[in-house]
Amino acid sequence: MNLAQILEKSMQDHDHLCPRQILGARIGMAGMKALNFTEPPKKKELLIISETDGCFVDGVIAATGCTVGHRTLRVEDYGKVAVTFVDTKTSRAIRIAPKLDIREQASAHIPNEPRHYFAQMQAYQSMPDEEMFTIAEVQLNKSVEEIVSCAGMRVNCDMCGEEIMNERELKRDGLNLCRACALPAYYQVPIVLTAFSESNL
Ligand SMILES: [Zn+2]
Ligand SMILES: [Zn+2]
Repeated sequence: MNLAQILEKSMQDHDHLCPRQILGARIGMAGMKALNFTEPPKKKELLIISETDGCFVDGVIAATGCTVGHRTLRVEDYGKVAVTFVDTKTSRAIRIAPKLDIREQASAHIPNEPRHYFAQMQAYQSMPDEEMFTIAEVQLNKSVEEIVSCAGMRVNCDMCGEEIMNERELKRDGLNLCRACALPAYYQVPIVLTAFSESNL
């Protein structure tokens, strides 16, 4: 697929076209090229780790075919526009991020468009990769096997009893614990004062 086709697809899924989606599509294309994939690979040969969510990722998904549902896309939410592309066969990993001055470069690229948003819309479709991105080989701190894990593995949490899939349990003193029980969770269950609520019924 060429950029226009990728953007068409991205726009359909996202319901509008915006500079971040175009940036995502371009990064997706650059990442595949860097790992010598000529089209979105089948069979989970490409794993991508995005450092943010939002419009940007929809462009990356349209270009690479990687999705959360297929377990080929993970979001490590650093709040940064950047993606690491991993060849799951070789473990080769390449991180691509926009150059720090990409917005200034975009405006310089389309000098007759004073509105930054529209300058970026145009520039991100026409600037060469080397003016847009920093492309760096990186070493993953976890193996691909650990990151992906074995789908279908299950244990029950020894505290809350809920099932934990894909080897995401943490071992604590011989117990299997889910992350919500072992770590500060992202949620808590409010304590219900039963006596108080009943007396108010
Ligand atoms: Zn958008
Ligand atoms: Zn638990």
